[in-house]
Amino acid sequence: MLQIDNLGKTFATGDTALANVSIDVPKGQILGLIGPSGAGKSTLIRCINRLVEPTEGAIRLGDVDLARVSARELRHQRRRIGMIFQEYSLVERLTVMENVLSGRLGYVSFWRSWTRRFPAEDIQRAFRLLDRVGLYEQANKRADALSGGQRQRVGIARALAQDPELLLVDEPTASLDPKTSRQIMRLITEICAERQLPAIVNIHDVPLAQQFVQRIVGLQDGRVVFDGPPEGLNEQT
Ligand code: ADP
Ligand code: ADP
Repeated sequence: MLQIDNLGKTFATGDTALANVSIDVPKGQILGLIGPSGAGKSTLIRCINRLVEPTEGAIRLGDVDLARVSARELRHQRRRIGMIFQEYSLVERLTVMENVLSGRLGYVSFWRSWTRRFPAEDIQRAFRLLDRVGLYEQANKRADALSGGQRQRVGIARALAQDPELLLVDEPTASLDPKTSRQIMRLITEICAERQLPAIVNIHDVPLAQQFVQRIVGLQDGRVVFDGPPEGLNEQT
């Protein structure tokens, strides 16, 4: 489980992007993060994977405080966190299978291993993940030949290939049409439940969040202004 305790971030410019943010995400729970532009959503996600250095508070994943790990240890800790992005960030000239395998190793070590070939079990595992996201048949297609929805499915399989303990999902449907967006949100929520993964989804589409997540956290000016089930959001606004 993820425990964010009293997290704060003030940038060198003096801008306070987060203040006193405390959120626990139990295993299997998917939390939808909403709030207006500038509320601190990206900063929160970036503090958890330490692309941004928090200035205050703790971020515990299991018994490790991610806010405190050394730069040296960070690489290892980041392997515990699966990332899914708005723009998929697939490697265009690689196949679907290669993109998924790269998630297991990280991109740089991927190339070293590829030349020595992957163990059969890694490939079998990648096929199982592709099957789960509905892309088994597309394994040998190049990433740039896929539709937006298919690309995001590759992004999901790639994140899962590293066996994460936490998923961070940044605007997963921002580039997709409404129907595909619902399919992707359904897939992410089902997978989190199956694997008992905690997840934070930064989502600007509030009705979509309300339809698919059990819990919504609303940020405004870097503070938590709502934390509860989606039904409660209707009553408040
Ligand atoms: P959101 O993702 O909700 O749109 P952000 O986390 O991007 O919000 O930004 C939160 C606040 O922090 C904003 O006021 C933004 O201008 C500020 N901010 C974000 N990144 C930086 C940075 N690198 N330096 C200074 N201020 C920043
Ligand atoms: P997003 O669209 O993902 O929320 P932003 O447009 O908020 O991203 O930020 C893009 C980049 O600019 C990020 O690296 C962020 O840290 C930086 N940034 C955002 N606001 C500021 C700011 N006020 N001062 C300096 N850098 C900022």
